[in-house]
Amino acid sequence: MKINPKFTIFTLIITFCIIGYYPLWGQVQPTLGGTSRMMNNALAEMEKGNFDKANAFFRQIIDSNLPIPPEMPYFFAETLFELKQYDNSANFLNKYFQISGLKGENFESAKVLETKLTGPLNAIKSCELCDRRGYRFKTCFTCDGSKQLEQDCTYCKAKGIVGCNKCMGSGLVTKKNVFNIVEYHECDKCTGEGRLTCPTCSGEKLEHSTCRTCRGVGHLQSDQICDHEPQEPRHMSYVFQKLKSH
Ligand SMILES: [Zn+2]
Ligand SMILES: [Zn+2]
Ligand SMILES: [Zn+2]
Ligand SMILES: [Zn+2]
Repeated sequence: MKINPKFTIFTLIITFCIIGYYPLWGQVQPTLGGTSRMMNNALAEMEKGNFDKANAFFRQIIDSNLPIPPEMPYFFAETLFELKQYDNSANFLNKYFQISGLKGENFESAKVLETKLTGPLNAIKSCELCDRRGYRFKTCFTCDGSKQLEQDCTYCKAKGIVGCNKCMGSGLVTKKNVFNIVEYHECDKCTGEGRLTCPTCSGEKLEHSTCRTCRGVGHLQSDQICDHEPQEPRHMSYVFQKLKSH
């Protein structure tokens, strides 16, 4: 039998294409398998009560940018609830309801979790010590909660007084009388003093500006979950300040 050289080349090309294709296929498959492996790992950690570890596995699934297993948002919401990240838990629970609707395998348990979340979410809403996600505010380190910063008045360079701009600091103004002769008069603006109280600081020598660190709020975000209980006396005074400002 004679072998057609054209046919051989064609076969080789096809073979290379298949060989070239397989590694690609091989790369995708284990990663897809990885999502369910990460999911299983997360569930195993949940079972053991290791919610921090479960959290890490769930975050790996999100970071992988691969399709999320349909029940994952529910289990992640349960984990976040255990970690007291109630706002985040509610977000993933809503996501679960959106994706799976009534058909979700864990729909009933998800409904139970939704009810369990109402209390903690209301506590966050009514607490003055934390942000709307339930993270405790910390006092701004720049203004120490006072929202404003005090600095030397830049207009008068902290002297409290400025030179009179009408008499240029001399205390005297000139006027020409009817005979066109220059007469000197006491400056009426500064009553002959030659200087005026600083119009910017009203003589206080200080200037107030909004704290830039906290943008005038007095507090900053933190990653500490709030227990909605005032802790230090400093926090107490902060609460009273907040109450006064309302
Ligand atoms: Zn500040
Ligand atoms: Zn003057
Ligand atoms: Zn001033
Ligand atoms: Zn709180």
